[in-house]
Amino acid sequence: MTRTASSWSTVDLCALHGRDYTEVRCDFGHALRREQLTGLEDRTALLINMHETSSGVLYDMDMVAGFCRENGIFLIVDAISAFLADELDMAALGAGAVLTGSQKALAVQPGVSLIALSPEAVRRAEENPEVCLYLSLKQALKNAERGQTPFTPAVTTLLQLHTRLSDITARGAEAERARIAAVAAAFRAGIADLPLTMISEAPSNAVTSLHPLYVPASAIVRILKDEYGIWACPNGGALMDEVFRIGHIGHIRPEDLHSLLDALHDMNNRGLLGP
Ligand SMILES: *Cc1c(COP(=O)(O)O)cnc(C)c1O
Repeated sequence: MTRTASSWSTVDLCALHGRDYTEVRCDFGHALRREQLTGLEDRTALLINMHETSSGVLYDMDMVAGFCRENGIFLIVDAISAFLADELDMAALGAGAVLTGSQKALAVQPGVSLIALSPEAVRRAEENPEVCLYLSLKQALKNAERGQTPFTPAVTTLLQLHTRLSDITARGAEAERARIAAVAAAFRAGIADLPLTMISEAPSNAVTSLHPLYVPASAIVRILKDEYGIWACPNGGALMDEVFRIGHIGHIRPEDLHSLLDALHDMNNRGLLGP
């Protein structure tokens, strides 16, 4: 329930659909605290992006789920960049819906959104009036009974997903999560001596958001791309010069991590990260 200047947020969704909502904002890089939910006990639902991808903050989902359970609030989790990267147990959280996409830690082409619904969510989808023709959960659920989708989906992406999920299932989702966590930990240890500070006070395994102490973040992204052939993720808008991000999800091999750490140290030796 935070918003960033450059992207659509859960708040925009509520506004678009004419829902009465309260926005809970977190300061950039800061975790969500229990006190921030005080006064919202009478709400029907809570939408949260479990991992705020621009700052890299992973919210305390046990705390959020506990609040929802105590107050009978329906919990909807945008787990798009947290899925597979961070611990997520839908049943343990008692979440009504969990969403992810094909393009983050599943690391295949973009084009498929995945949504897991609890029995309660299915009941609500069936009982509530439809608001959108293109995303009709009623139609999706009905079609799923015969293994179909309401419209032709991104079939090639589904085939990739099938292969990827088979691979993850064979190794165990926990193994994939541990692999991503190890990449994140090795990266963070490897930059400890550089003039870069971590933005997030509760970092996710998916991404490390960094603030350079002396030079614009956009310059680092540009030099990594132009001189080292490495693509780091810039932040948009007002944060362009303040923050850049290094992703740890997807097909990142140990040698990729070493190239990146070598490049950043080389830049530092050249004085490109500061004095
Ligand atoms: C990436 C992401 C999305 C989806 O954004 P796209 O524009 O489809 O990439 C939504 N929520 C979170 C938390 C994300 O990290």
